[in-house]
Amino acid sequence: MTTTYRKLAVLSSIVGANPLLVQGGGGNTSVKDGQKLWVKASGTWLAGAGEQDIFLPVDIPTVLERTRLGIEDLSDLGRNGMRPSIETPFHAMMPQRVVLHLHMLDAIIYSSMPDENSVLRDKLHGLNWAMVPYARPDLPLSRIIDSVLEKAETAPELLVLQNHGIVIAAENEEDSIPLINDVMKRLRLEPRLLPVPDVFALAVGNDLSWRIPSCPVVHAPAFGPSAQVISGGLPLYPDHVVFLGPAALILNAGDTLGPAKDSFQKTYGFEPLFAIIRDCGVLVSPKMTPGAFAMLEALGNVCLRSPAGVELSGLSGEDVNALGNWDAEAYRKTLDSSEKK
Ligand SMILES: [Zn+2]
Repeated sequence: MTTTYRKLAVLSSIVGANPLLVQGGGGNTSVKDGQKLWVKASGTWLAGAGEQDIFLPVDIPTVLERTRLGIEDLSDLGRNGMRPSIETPFHAMMPQRVVLHLHMLDAIIYSSMPDENSVLRDKLHGLNWAMVPYARPDLPLSRIIDSVLEKAETAPELLVLQNHGIVIAAENEEDSIPLINDVMKRLRLEPRLLPVPDVFALAVGNDLSWRIPSCPVVHAPAFGPSAQVISGGLPLYPDHVVFLGPAALILNAGDTLGPAKDSFQKTYGFEPLFAIIRDCGVLVSPKMTPGAFAMLEALGNVCLRSPAGVELSGLSGEDVNALGNWDAEAYRKTLDSSEKK
């Protein structure tokens, strides 16, 4: 590990281990060294940055030129079987030395609320921040960030990416920590009480012997007011679609899992990895990967924090389709299924 990014690796591992900031292989970080950008490799976990070498050096002018030309594929800039993160272009664009892109769940919820701009203006008053309307990760998102940066008088220290997360930018690693803490505090949503799942009721219709997870938060979608994906709308953020699919299998207590799973699969065209049993808890398929499980935990955390009575705006059908047909995300999923943690 070079000294250039040793501090970034420590910082990445600590934010990467916080499930309210980063889930699975989501989020990415970078540090600039002259014309070189050290950026997280696609599909690697920030939480593992302390033990593994997850950063790749890329040439900033090359990345910016490719973005200008509309070239999305940066895989040839990788090495040792690793590709630079799909979100490398906006890391290269941001003028600050250190850039952290986090899937902060509270920020995702706020950015999906009705009248999100004025709510966030109020919450983030005094910070140099800007809102970035939703765009598919990779080139479309980087392009919209480019236009937001162009309009800003001084380079923002915080970007809120609608239905996606945040970007924190600072000149050095030390300065980024108080900023992350400040944003977390300003956007903190109080979690609701989580009941103990009814493990005995969950066992009744479980003819496929799916697992009953011991992680409490994973069961939250089965109880009380729930997030968009549960209430019949589309998911709130891209990684949910990529790892868990655009719809959820929901059963009542006593329903049999096998036939319900088959009919879900016929309707939606993909195999569900989890089943929500109303007021009982959640069952998990043996095909669930570690990355997908991290996204299920994220869904639980979102359900516990989504304000009751506030209708959140999920991604559009078009956005969801664009995520489903995207090569770079298929690559990230492949890495997840081959590296069970
Ligand atoms: Zn992201």
